[in-house]
Amino acid sequence: MNPKNLNLKSYISEEKIQEKVKQIGEQLTAKFKGQKVVAVCVLKGSFLFYSDLIRQINTDITCEFFGVSSYHGGTSSSGEVKVTLDLASPVEGMHVILVEDIVDTGLTMNYLKTSIESRKPASVTTVTLLEKPEALKVPCKLDYVGFQITNEFVVGYGLDYQGYFRNLPYIAQVQNFQ
Ligand code: 5GP
Repeated sequence: MNPKNLNLKSYISEEKIQEKVKQIGEQLTAKFKGQKVVAVCVLKGSFLFYSDLIRQINTDITCEFFGVSSYHGGTSSSGEVKVTLDLASPVEGMHVILVEDIVDTGLTMNYLKTSIESRKPASVTTVTLLEKPEALKVPCKLDYVGFQITNEFVVGYGLDYQGYFRNLPYIAQVQNFQ
């Protein structure tokens, strides 16, 4: 696959994304003001959203990284969540903000939430930049959602197709898959 041969159509602009990130950051600041929070970045897809979002959260936070893989490079979820990197520190007694790029079937978010809850945090707050409500296969309670989108494959702003396009500052749809 040569990424140069794919046609991308802008779907959510950089401006709209940054506006939404600021809004969610302000809401999280209000919710957690004065409290100690650990923000968990779900790798790889949420690394850009996460790094923009934590800079909009104005309280004491520490950062943790949780690596999972469910697409294995394709465009549909395998339904099986594989942990590629576990949290490096315990989150017991802490307020956890779990930051995902996109909730599709909901399996990954459910898996992550259950895994973090088993470590006895004070609370878990779920945040996702994108949600595909039509694709949900399991009930999944989300506390903050940036944008609800249709059931189509998107790339950019952390999201990839076969490893490419994560560095786009906006979200796009691929017009001609190869
Ligand atoms: P779920 O477990 O909810 O089905 O899938 C969540 C994971 O699948 C996301 O973290 C993301 O890595 C991947 N994913 C779901 N939808 C898309 C999409 O439209 N584009 C890309 N690039 N990845 C997606």
